[in-house]
Amino acid sequence: MANMFAFVESRGTEVRKVGLEAVTAARAFADKSGGGEVHALLVGPPGIVAKASQLGQYGADVVIVVEHAALTNYNPEAATATAAARIKAGSYRAAIFSTSAQGRDLAPRVAARLGVSAVTDVLSFELEGNTVVVRHSINIGKVIATLAMSGSPAVIAMRPNVISPAQNAKAGRVENAQPAVDPGSTRVKVVETRKGGTGKLDLAEAPVVIAGGRGLKAAENFKLVEDLASAFGNAAVGATRAVTDDGWRPHSDQIGQTGRLVSPELYIAVGISGAVQHLAGMRTSKTIVAVNKDKDAPIFKVADYGIVGDVFEVIPALTEAVREAKKHH
Ligand SMILES: Cc1cc2nc3c(=O)[nH]c(=O)nc-3n(C[C@H](O)[C@H](O)[C@H](O)COP(=O)(O)OP(=O)(O)OC[C@H]3O[C@@H](n4cnc5c(N)ncnc54)[C@H](O)[C@@H]3O)c2cc1C
Repeated sequence: MANMFAFVESRGTEVRKVGLEAVTAARAFADKSGGGEVHALLVGPPGIVAKASQLGQYGADVVIVVEHAALTNYNPEAATATAAARIKAGSYRAAIFSTSAQGRDLAPRVAARLGVSAVTDVLSFELEGNTVVVRHSINIGKVIATLAMSGSPAVIAMRPNVISPAQNAKAGRVENAQPAVDPGSTRVKVVETRKGGTGKLDLAEAPVVIAGGRGLKAAENFKLVEDLASAFGNAAVGATRAVTDDGWRPHSDQIGQTGRLVSPELYIAVGISGAVQHLAGMRTSKTIVAVNKDKDAPIFKVADYGIVGDVFEVIPALTEAVREAKKHH
């Protein structure tokens, strides 16, 4: 029986999907271990307590709510101190975070504070005997390593989207707590947050990602990609580094080793060669479709469906077909 800790990411008073993923992963692990408790930590501005019942729906037995006016934005020092203090006070087998921009910062800080081991970019994890065993991607996604984590708790940061939030209602009993350090007097303060990217949906969370590469020839031709994304209605637009380096798209749209990690239900690569550094950010997508005029392009090696053709012909036809299909659903 293993008690689990889950850090729930939020934005303002909204819980992020990766937060629900963390609770879902913790719940599944606790259940498999014979039914331990899941304690979820929710840190944010006043009013965020209203989201506690939602976390109960996804399997939290206890929701520790830390509200403070200076916690509207992510505060690394306050979040680290608060999460570490809570984990120390509990007896958890593992603490689950996300490998989101925030989680990449937070999980290693918490592990260092506690003097325990941490693994990021985790695809799955389980208990073998009494050992927590995780699978995570290394060598820019070319190798999946299986690691046995020694010590307790194991700090695990899941890759976004590898687990779907699943309802599994528990009590979601609220415990109010104070931040472990005053968020108003930390050395690092977020003074402004500017929304990056051009799409309405966050790349890491969108169920469909349409990414464009140099094969689109010019910035203005990204309209083809945007049209296809809006035909889907639930798609975000991404790009290769070649494209962001050329200034066709903002850097926040870049997918890959030095960009965002995505793992959507459907990934459509439009005029992308499939360099290893790009594959590092998208190869765990559930279904990959590639459109490229070169039949030998490496992207076809990871694609489930490949269309050898000119993007300027294929993408408008695909957009039309998606619009047609959506009309009937
Ligand atoms: C340290 C390092 C880190 C990097 N990090 C990243 C990263 O995070 N993300 C990333 O993406 N890259 C990264 N790169 C760059 C990477 O190596 C590639 O250069 C880049 O991904 C190539 O982008 P691309 O596929 O758009 O362009 P190209 O490689 O030029 O490919 C364009 C493709 O479009 C096809 N094409 C051309 N015209 C058409 C048409 N009309 N119709 C259909 N297909 C067409 C071509 O056949 C070709 O396959 C990194 C490189 C280094 C060295």
